[in-house]
Amino acid sequence: MNQVSLTRKSGISAVIIALSCLSGCVGPEGKTVGQAGAKKGYEAGSSLIDITRISAVSPVYPVVIIGSGPAGLMAGVYAGRGNIKNLILQGNKPGGLLTETSEVENWPGEISMLGKDIIEKMRAQAAKWGSEIWDDAADKIDVSQWPYKITTQDDKVLYAMTIILCTGAGPRFLGIPGEKEYWGKGVTSCAVCDAPFYKDKEVVVVGGGDSAVEEAIQLSQYASKITILVRKDKMRAAASMQARLKGYPQISVLYNVEPKEIKGNDLQVTAISLYNTQTQKTEDFVTSGVFLAVGHIPNTALVKDTIEVDEQGYAVMQGRTYHTSRAGIFAAGDVQDNRYRQAGAAAGQGICAALDALSFLNEIGFTGEMATKFASPKKEGQNAGTIEKVASLTEFNGLLKQSSGLLVACCELGESTQAHEVLSSVLATHEGVTCSLVDIRQAEDVARKYFVHEAPVFLVFNDGQLVGRFAKPMKADELNEVIYNISQS
Ligand code: NDP
Repeated sequence: MNQVSLTRKSGISAVIIALSCLSGCVGPEGKTVGQAGAKKGYEAGSSLIDITRISAVSPVYPVVIIGSGPAGLMAGVYAGRGNIKNLILQGNKPGGLLTETSEVENWPGEISMLGKDIIEKMRAQAAKWGSEIWDDAADKIDVSQWPYKITTQDDKVLYAMTIILCTGAGPRFLGIPGEKEYWGKGVTSCAVCDAPFYKDKEVVVVGGGDSAVEEAIQLSQYASKITILVRKDKMRAAASMQARLKGYPQISVLYNVEPKEIKGNDLQVTAISLYNTQTQKTEDFVTSGVFLAVGHIPNTALVKDTIEVDEQGYAVMQGRTYHTSRAGIFAAGDVQDNRYRQAGAAAGQGICAALDALSFLNEIGFTGEMATKFASPKKEGQNAGTIEKVASLTEFNGLLKQSSGLLVACCELGESTQAHEVLSSVLATHEGVTCSLVDIRQAEDVARKYFVHEAPVFLVFNDGQLVGRFAKPMKADELNEVIYNISQS
């Protein structure tokens, strides 16, 4: 088990971390610094983990969470509850893979709930506990200095005393001819995104896991026939997931087939060539779309030269902790979990990683007094993190009447993940602002009253008066700035 021993310099507040690891820990310079029983530290050089260095750079966050799926958001909740300021960099897919899932029936305490609704609630919870949530992604992590330097895709620079990697995993590809060529022309890995393009068409889903079942069910709303292609004689998906397929006569399963090539007419997919492991024959199977559900690859590209990863690329944990091989860097969720890969498990791991990070901060001498200096304000009250859904002018007028101060309404065609994300960010950033999502397919009277002829349109009200109207998609940062300016005027 990884042990952390600390040496306090007598008479001064600096704390220097020294590690002894069974498998060898990696220091900020990337060198392996510890072996069984040996005590080696960072006592020399610029890479010293020394708590006094936190005032040498700015802005410094005690905890930076990279990724905003269940692991990242729960890490934020626990860091916040520990009264530790934390920043969540949402990444390029805010909310992670769960936002692409439809009904989730195995989330603790919920009989059935949409994946994106779970994420929305969790994001609100993290925001309530003070997580700062940025609509940005980590681009580089420089571990040659501590606090670790993070550069974001929007070119912002910040420093982290600890990092919790919650970057999840991305879709795996088949690596067969035609896959790249027809990517976006019939080959895809996202049924939620692309299913509507396959109305009344015949499609295949490749894979035998839970994702394949999910994809097929999502496709059933549009496609006329869906065939799940399984390479073995049985599916890997949970029995309960397989049982769900019985309710969909348009879905069938073809076993013992290995995809060998995706074929098309240059413009779009027309067939997939399948090798039958029973008959040992290869035949073309006519299809308009190939939906890939063949597992995932951990998103460790950002850190693969920085922390130890296994042969499949998963972050390696130290013993029964969520420490990576590098001091102050932790990981949770699918980026380190090749075994359970469940949203509920990821959330639990996010909690553990946050608790490990808080212990680490404590061990390096980050005192309660320092924590207070860094603390983020908690959000209290009815509007902390709640997006009010509106389906009529009567409801909207009621909301306008109730809300004192600023109200931001996003007029959209039905549910929109992007609108949710932008409004959640507003709630996380500004206290006392009410956010509302107006479904203009139902609330036609709101659309008429406020001349909404396209979507999205953002309406900003101050004390019931319309003070801003933006008929375009807006990024969270842009809308946050608008709200900041209005609140200052
Ligand atoms: P899995 O790794 O569970 O399944 C991948 C599937 O793809 C397997 O059936 C595998 O076949 C097949 N496969 C892999 N490579 C190839 C190939 N080259 N050719 C053909 N088939 C191939 O991944 P999932 O994405 O389905 O699930 C990941 C995790 O997420 C799981 O833990 C799952 O339970 C969870 N999940 C849960 C959901 C829910 O509860 N609602 C929804 C979606 C996912 P083989 O079996 O032969 O190896």
